[in-house]
Amino acid sequence: MDVDNEEFEWSESGQANGLWAYDNLPFGSPPGICAAAGDTPMTHSERLSEYAGCPLYCKDETQNPTGTYKDRGSATSITYANEQNIDVVGTVSVGNMAMSTAATATSAGLQCIVLVPSTIPPERIELIKQYDPDLLEVNGDYGQLYYDALTLNDGGEVLFVNGDSPVRLEGYKTIAYEICDSFRPESPDAIVLPISSGGHVSGVWKGLQELRDAGAINEVPRLYCVQSTAVDPIARAYEANSSTVEPVEQGETIAYSISNGNPPSGNRALEAVRETGGAITSVSDERILEAKAMLAAKGGYCVEPASATTVAGIRKWTNSGEISPEETVVAVLTGTGFKEMGQSDFELERGLHRINRDELDKGVRSTIGSL
Ligand SMILES: *Cc1c(COP(=O)(O)O)cnc(C)c1O
Repeated sequence: MDVDNEEFEWSESGQANGLWAYDNLPFGSPPGICAAAGDTPMTHSERLSEYAGCPLYCKDETQNPTGTYKDRGSATSITYANEQNIDVVGTVSVGNMAMSTAATATSAGLQCIVLVPSTIPPERIELIKQYDPDLLEVNGDYGQLYYDALTLNDGGEVLFVNGDSPVRLEGYKTIAYEICDSFRPESPDAIVLPISSGGHVSGVWKGLQELRDAGAINEVPRLYCVQSTAVDPIARAYEANSSTVEPVEQGETIAYSISNGNPPSGNRALEAVRETGGAITSVSDERILEAKAMLAAKGGYCVEPASATTVAGIRKWTNSGEISPEETVVAVLTGTGFKEMGQSDFELERGLHRINRDELDKGVRSTIGSL
């Protein structure tokens, strides 16, 4: 392929440097894989848009170092700890948060303590363990563990950076920066996120407010959040027109990463959604699995079930008229599906064909047809 070498110029900003490309972060230089978080692709799929019912853009957070948006918050947390000469960080998690914090900490030469509930599946332990943290399996109420862990910061020897800690939100806010940067000078009409503790949406909301206050965007996109119907305390409060989230029993859901029945930042999520004119809903496991299958089969994205709630929610809202068919919507694909398989029994149309070696031509030709 011919290219015009006369036209070559180095980019102004030098090498891409992840979320650190934006200068209003209150931190110094990122150690280890902190430098690799963020700067994820924004991609568009016509076929997926058709399924969703509106022009759909995907902010592909699966491309972060450990496959989730959590790496942005881990990057700012570990950079902060490093600057403050704190040698030990901790977190409470059932999976992604643990992996992200442990990987980021070890890459920067920090020790990491991870508190996990005794109900955690062994496959998840294996994924976390590879980053060599101190894993403490704690029995009893997992929701309460989140709050108990924060009291352990007192001595100043260990810094617990849980899901909605302020230093994490600084990392999460850069998702809002990057999304708005991709659409400049326009803004997308809506941004849709899966929600559990509410840390992610709190960070995105902070970023949007900063951009609005700086005059960097004209329109603030509406923020939408989606839960699983099995664990939906924030959606319930939203539907009841309440400003306070009441804890619920933690039901079983395929979307295990969003199963916090007592979300620490639930009230803030309600505020973010109401102030921007968005909404919160919940979707069933059946719809989540369908959306996960469509994300892969039509869009080429392999996401975990929690992330697929976004597309299931958008489809629901375009059907009800809450989101109109010409509105531009961004789904944040929060986590990769490559960590754990065996979560989709949704039947697709094409599937596996068994053909004879001596009828290769006929076999291939028989599969050719329109999508
Ligand atoms: C943690 C997580 C969420 C939920 O984020 P919160 O900050 O807890 O609301 C959503 N998707 C994935 C993949 C996650 O790991």
